[in-house]
Amino acid sequence: PQDWQGQRVTVAGLGVSGISAARALAGLGAVVTVVDNGDGDAHRARAAELAEQGIEVRLGHLADGSRAGDVLPEGTELVVTSPGWKPDSPLFTAAAAAGVDVVGDVEIAWRLRGTDGRKPAEWLAITGTNGKTTTTQMLASILEAEGLRTAAVGNIGTPIIDVVLGDEEYDVLAVELSSYQLHWAPSVRAHSAAVLNLAPDHLDWHGSMEAYAADKGRIYEGNTVACVYNVADPATERLVEEADVVEGCRAIGFTLGAPGPSMLGVVDGILVDRAFVQNRQKNAQELAHVEDVHPPAPHNIANALAAAALARAFGVAPRAVRDGLRAFRPDAHRIAHVADVGGVAYVDDSKATNTHAAQASLAAYEPVVWIAGGLAKGATFDELVKGAVGRLRGAVLIGADRALIRDALARHAPEVPVVDLDRTDTEAMLAAVREAARLAEPGDTVLLAPACASMDMFANYNKRGDAFADAVRQLAAESA
Ligand code: ADP
Repeated sequence: PQDWQGQRVTVAGLGVSGISAARALAGLGAVVTVVDNGDGDAHRARAAELAEQGIEVRLGHLADGSRAGDVLPEGTELVVTSPGWKPDSPLFTAAAAAGVDVVGDVEIAWRLRGTDGRKPAEWLAITGTNGKTTTTQMLASILEAEGLRTAAVGNIGTPIIDVVLGDEEYDVLAVELSSYQLHWAPSVRAHSAAVLNLAPDHLDWHGSMEAYAADKGRIYEGNTVACVYNVADPATERLVEEADVVEGCRAIGFTLGAPGPSMLGVVDGILVDRAFVQNRQKNAQELAHVEDVHPPAPHNIANALAAAALARAFGVAPRAVRDGLRAFRPDAHRIAHVADVGGVAYVDDSKATNTHAAQASLAAYEPVVWIAGGLAKGATFDELVKGAVGRLRGAVLIGADRALIRDALARHAPEVPVVDLDRTDTEAMLAAVREAARLAEPGDTVLLAPACASMDMFANYNKRGDAFADAVRQLAAESA
């Protein structure tokens, strides 16, 4: 393990992961400075707490008028970034010019494994444009069912550094990694890893689809047992082919169809494994029924297969795959059934913040009244609308960039009734649900799958989903 004593580390960003990194490294003897351009009350309160631990915090503007977060402190030997900081931030440009490495909290966590003399947990890693959190939690549930000591970490829950250094001991971690985290984590070497899918997202951050894919592909570097890819998404298989892995590491595909050799797939409603079959008499191992997966929507079966592939690569028994999937329930706002009102089902997929995610949930319902809109983040909606057109009973549009969706509907689905609410106020969701109820017929589903970010109208996607659920409950109360 690395010796941190006296190392001069600059942490960019006074958020959850920045605080975790600063505390951990200061605790190991590093001389830590945290820089952040913000200087509101919350920042000052956090800075005061860190100061008690001897951590210097530079907020807002420096004496010479430059922004604290733009300037590399004198003598810095390593920079630790936080999510949200763009790779072309002035601080990183300054670090590059000074020959100083820039890494993220995941890289720090990886380097801190075993610092305390304990045997480090193996990492099973997951990335992809959509489905990361769900798949990571499914995997943790399966590993738990096997009786392993495990946790779902990374983009989720407790900061990963705190988990690696905490009192709790783990056999294996289910690690969700965003493309940002992978970008800044050059030396992470997972036992096995999966890329679930690749669709354009966050291109403003990465600069191009190629750069985004390359960052995601990093997850396979140095894998020892399995690189899991999505058979339906050839770009993920290409990343496996390009990766440098340990000798003997296998490429394992997952598919919603019948699996070939070295794949997991679905046969007659049963999830089967043809990659890790121990019994030589059998050519496939049954793992679970489609109904064991919640919700049993196609994209979620794909998530379950990816989780199962990683678990099987780790040696988990088929029964634990089934039990772990049965025990798992997705987090809120991910295709959550809110209520039935007047024979119409209301489903909250507020977490569908991009078109790829919305496409997956729209594909699971028919006929569907679609509530969409928000911040488009540079996306186009033609493919999404083309794919959904046969299922749409109607659409209700809200939010700042709704005109983009309206125009795509006009181009590809002119016969579908569209209500353009032209609203971004807080009551707009109730109005949207009322309009959707008007369009829906018994047996239909009203689906909130915005395909957009929420920040034009709500603090985050959770609040947007809560507003939808509140509106549905109000509707139910009125019609009771
Ligand atoms: P992430 O952590 O990658 O954002 P989540 O598991 O939180 O992913 O799911 C986000 C949204 O993406 C869900 O609400 C759902 O609409 C959609 N989704 C989940 N899994 C998939 C998948 N495998 N393919 C496409 N969309 C998916």
